Amino acid sequence: MLTNTDSSPPSSPSITCIKCHKEAIKEKKIERLPDGGTLIKAIHADGRQCSWAEYDTIEDVMENRKKEKNPRIILCPACSKRGRINHYYKDDKKRENVSYLVVHEPIGGEWGRKSKVKRVRRCYINDSAQRDIILKKLGRYIEGN
Ligand SMILES: [Zn+2]
Ligand SMILES: [Zn+2]
Repeated sequence: MLTNTDSSPPSSPSITCIKCHKEAIKEKKIERLPDGGTLIKAIHADGRQCSWAEYDTIEDVMENRKKEKNPRIILCPACSKRGRINHYYKDDKKRENVSYLVVHEPIGGEWGRKSKVKRVRRCYINDSAQRDIILKKLGRYIEGN
């Protein structure tokens, strides 16, 4: 971009936030989501932020589902050991808010009496720089955020 001055007035027409239907000063794509959507964030003049998931064509969704099946092995940005990228939702109703973790080696024992799921060491990715590494590895990183 050639013109990058903060003093220039916003030339674009006003943006209406689709979440709260109020005027937003900025709307941007944040990252790709595991289900094929794109996380969009709107920033309001009072500092409030709204986020939601936007979906492209059904073909895009299918394409991303296919990719999703491959387990992603990564050199964990948190502990520098190899592990598999996984994701989870803190709030199942807010699917646009995805959290990532790296699953490591078994640590002995099982989780839950009935499920018999082997206990594994897990690194939860809370640091935004580490999260970017995960997103880039998964091809979900959107440049400029
Ligand atoms: Zn809003
Ligand atoms: Zn780790």
